[in-house]
Amino acid sequence: MPALIVGNWKMNGLGEAVAEIAEMAGSGASSRRVGLWIAPPFTLIDRAVIVSAGSVKIGGQDCHHKDSGAHTGCVSAPMLADLGAGFVIVGHSERRRDNGERDADVRAKAMAGKAAGLEVILCIGETRDERDAGETNAVLSAQLAGSLPDDAEALIIAYEPVWAIGTGLVPTLDDVAAAHAHIRSQLVARYGAAGHGVRILYGGSVTPANAADLLRVADVGGVLVGGASLTAASLLAIASAA
Ligand code: 13P
Repeated sequence: MPALIVGNWKMNGLGEAVAEIAEMAGSGASSRRVGLWIAPPFTLIDRAVIVSAGSVKIGGQDCHHKDSGAHTGCVSAPMLADLGAGFVIVGHSERRRDNGERDADVRAKAMAGKAAGLEVILCIGETRDERDAGETNAVLSAQLAGSLPDDAEALIIAYEPVWAIGTGLVPTLDDVAAAHAHIRSQLVARYGAAGHGVRILYGGSVTPANAADLLRVADVGGVLVGGASLTAASLLAIASAA
């Protein structure tokens, strides 16, 4: 399975930023050994789809759990699909923190994304306090139990330790391996054999300097990259580490 390199632009990027996506698409990186996916802000999705020329998959950073209705300011999964998006991120810790999203909300969003034909990247991860208290596996288990959709089809898990996001801190490779092994065991317990087919990404302070080591860890099927995904140069350097 080729590595999957996913960029999450968060609340960054005005119109001129789609030139970075055009450069990623033009690099040919995605036709070789990696998949390149970018989740720009909603405002850039339509332009990003056009410049991606089908070689970078474009997705949303969130979706509402309903398809339509009186929800001012929200964007639904069918709306993303309508723009040509191919995936959606749900449950990012910044949305859990800023928007009070809980596991049940994340599960509903995951189900909505799948129903709209999108691949779903479902994010989980422990806080520093939870890790220090030795609760990492328990937290991951609880998040998965509360948020996994009904089946494993089109599902990707992103393990993003909250304390590693945007901090320059990264767990040891052994700790990443242990977390991914635990997540895998939970997926197999939930979905049976299909749980083996779910890709698990690592996210949190991934850079061109540490990507090669992280991508070699057992059961790391790719990376979810924030800050280092904003320029083509940086993301392509990560992709070439795969
Ligand atoms: P950074 O790569 O900036 O730490 O962000 C990771 C992340 O949250 C990706 O979803």
